[in-house]
Amino acid sequence: MTEHETDYEVVIGMETHIELDTASKMFCACSAQCFGAEPNTHVCPVCLGMPGALPVINRRAVEYAMMVGLALNCQIARFTFWERKSYWYPDLPKGYQISQYQYPLCYDGWIDVDVRDVASGTWQEHAERRRIRIRRAHLEEDTGKLTHIGNFSYVDYNRSGVPLLEIVTEPDLRSANEAYAYLSALQQIVRYLGVGTADMEKGAMRCEPNMSLRPKGSHELGVKVEIKNLNSLRAVRDAIAYEIERQTRILRSGGSIQQVTLGWDEARGVTYIQREKESAHDYRYFPEPDLPPLQVDEAWLAEVRARVPELALARQDRYRRDFGLSAYDAVVLTADRAVADWFEAVVAALPNGPGRAKAAANWVQSELFRVMKSRGIPNSAVHTLPVKPAQLAELIMMVERGVINHHTAKHVFEAMCDSGADPQCIVEERGLAQVSDAAALRDVVEAVVAAHPQQVQQVLAGQEKVFGFLVGQAMKATRGKGNAQMIHALLREAIERQRA
Ligand code: ADP
Ligand code: MG
Ligand code: ZN
Repeated sequence: MTEHETDYEVVIGMETHIELDTASKMFCACSAQCFGAEPNTHVCPVCLGMPGALPVINRRAVEYAMMVGLALNCQIARFTFWERKSYWYPDLPKGYQISQYQYPLCYDGWIDVDVRDVASGTWQEHAERRRIRIRRAHLEEDTGKLTHIGNFSYVDYNRSGVPLLEIVTEPDLRSANEAYAYLSALQQIVRYLGVGTADMEKGAMRCEPNMSLRPKGSHELGVKVEIKNLNSLRAVRDAIAYEIERQTRILRSGGSIQQVTLGWDEARGVTYIQREKESAHDYRYFPEPDLPPLQVDEAWLAEVRARVPELALARQDRYRRDFGLSAYDAVVLTADRAVADWFEAVVAALPNGPGRAKAAANWVQSELFRVMKSRGIPNSAVHTLPVKPAQLAELIMMVERGVINHHTAKHVFEAMCDSGADPQCIVEERGLAQVSDAAALRDVVEAVVAAHPQQVQQVLAGQEKVFGFLVGQAMKATRGKGNAQMIHALLREAIERQRA
């Protein structure tokens, strides 16, 4: 990179559409759960825009939108009304979309995001916390879906009328990485709240970055482009990075940027012009005459606020502060709310004591994740495992009290995941209790020393690796149940006695 390449800074504002995962659609009783369904089977006169059909507000969708707004630290409007946004397109049967314009349900919020350079090897421990302002989040209805095959275009109205939340940031993002971090944080919030899948591949979350460059130090906004057609977080990051380079090159050679809408060609890794700047859209917004205004009273708001759980970033901070966990552990444990809840239940069931939260964190990240992965259980479905958090807490305490060693505990845990039985029962039933009987262990150790004279001499000559081998032999003789600390000590003694 030459020195000149740093003389522009990128400014990005993000527009994101999120489908809300309600049972029915925004303004009719049709099922909103239509991904993968036969085309045009989840439709009725309302979402097909038949004359005379009347919409009814889906209360649950409004609540979901409020939950997201609250999680994004937004103000919630106590009074809003719906407006018609008129435009013509075949996926919009009414010729207008019911939306919110003058008074969005949620406005003036912010979200803190930890920006990590995922490309660096130590991304976990180094994060820059940035606050991104949220301009507004308003509720509207999704459109149908067009598919073009050859000379024909097909339209599926199943998606028409699915509740959609549009979230718009201020132009506060300053890099492709920040855009990525913002969107993953938003996605995680939607999932934590349980109001949507935010699955970009399925179109449940769609985002359009608006971006411009400006000379470093300038406070004015440059000419912006808008990028569409992005169906993964990676695509967003790649497209922005590509545009930063392209626009920097143009500006450096004295050219100027055209205000256009761009598409992203995933296969070729380039942007292309979708639309030149048209004269500002005239959507002819006006209040929707078929719906009453929306009023949110304090009681309703309080009820909805109570449903917003502690979110991932706050949990990460708490885990690091209260449990002494690393940033990496905290990020991994909070990735899914279900796992975070599960982990916290383990900690809650453990008597207070140093290192116990860390032990719980290790168990979750190693053994629990391994078991779930091998059984094809997604992290979000951890509660479907027969084993319960309090049982893992008990297992951790059994190791700490020396009832079983760590090696045995892993097998016990596996059995707990099969049957849901308590660890004490499994240990008793299978005779797995740790052997801490000094006399018995001494016999084992003496036998190992007698059977391996050559290795004993190697240890005496300073080959520590061989000591590990002998420990392994002794452990094997106890069928893995020997108290490791005692075996170590006894073996040292026995070897020393062999010194000529
Ligand atoms: P439009 O009317 O074209 O949709 P808006 O003013 O509503 O534009 O802004 C849409 C998004 O674009 C917002 O997230 C906003 O922060 C961002 N934005 C607006 N102007 C710029 C700019 N010059 N550079 C980067 N982002 C911008
Ligand atoms: Mg726009
Ligand atoms: Zn319908």
